[in-house]
Amino acid sequence: MKFLSNWLHIIRNCSFDNTYKVAWAKAITESALEYVSENERQVVVEISLTSIAQKVIRYYWEQTLFFDLKQSGNPNKPPVIVSVVKELTASYQAKTGSFKPIKWFTANVENLCKHEYDKAIKEIVKALKADVSYRFLRIEGKEIVGIYEYQQKADCLYIAADNLKQLKEHSLIVFDAINYRWTQMLENFNHSPRISKKIKIIDEDNVRRKPLSKFISYLNAENPTHSCFLCGYSIVGETPAIDHVIPWSYLYSDDLWNLVYAHQSCNSSKSNVIPSEDMIKRLEDRNSELLNLLQTSGIKDKHVSELAMAIENNYVKKFWIACQG
Ligand SMILES: [Zn+2]
Repeated sequence: MKFLSNWLHIIRNCSFDNTYKVAWAKAITESALEYVSENERQVVVEISLTSIAQKVIRYYWEQTLFFDLKQSGNPNKPPVIVSVVKELTASYQAKTGSFKPIKWFTANVENLCKHEYDKAIKEIVKALKADVSYRFLRIEGKEIVGIYEYQQKADCLYIAADNLKQLKEHSLIVFDAINYRWTQMLENFNHSPRISKKIKIIDEDNVRRKPLSKFISYLNAENPTHSCFLCGYSIVGETPAIDHVIPWSYLYSDDLWNLVYAHQSCNSSKSNVIPSEDMIKRLEDRNSELLNLLQTSGIKDKHVSELAMAIENNYVKKFWIACQG
């Protein structure tokens, strides 16, 4: 557990100039959640700075686009990564004509603004190399050893598989520590309320929920007998609740791929709990089954194509990992 306590020590003590280090820590912790050991003998895992940049861009995209949170003390000289993300946002808004806040995964920036996105990732990698990668390990001039190996200017870092496993196992505590530190930093630069909620993108004030009844006919196609997704028993003598498997407060939208039937009581006792890995697996299976049924019956509309896109792009897994942070 030496690794874990060192990791938390770094987070607790990282400097207050800007939020790069907490973003870096969050991206590596997320990488740990994605990590599946290829074989028992794998000792060291390579993490590319590009894959870290692809996560970091999302954090800044959502914090900036939803809440316009400032990430450093000098408003005239924002951190490079923030400027890069703002430029990308402007390209995206120009291309789509929409100024509504939108979650990164559903915005599809990588494809709609491919050129600008690739450029943004390169610039973020450059900033991470120069300002974060090796400095992250230094606290008050001393390097904390045994965290990961990084050669200055390299494109990858190397981390022990055992360290990643520890991060994965304790990811909720680690994410809480990171978000708490991030909140403390942003409170220095921002005066808007409920910053800790905004860091996790769970501010609900300005987003109105819409009725879910339009999804009933689709859900019935796969689940005509109304069995409860949460407990597995049939729903009898009451109107089924429509449950968001990935909490609505994280996703901000109603999507067929994330909606299931549940007992009213199962639904309300669950509220914003992060779903288990087993539930995620079952949701993925349900979605394939549902898409199959809808396509076989010749239904072609917005919801069906969104469902297909969600399966193709692995939304369930991606949002599940992201909502834990
Ligand atoms: Zn139930």
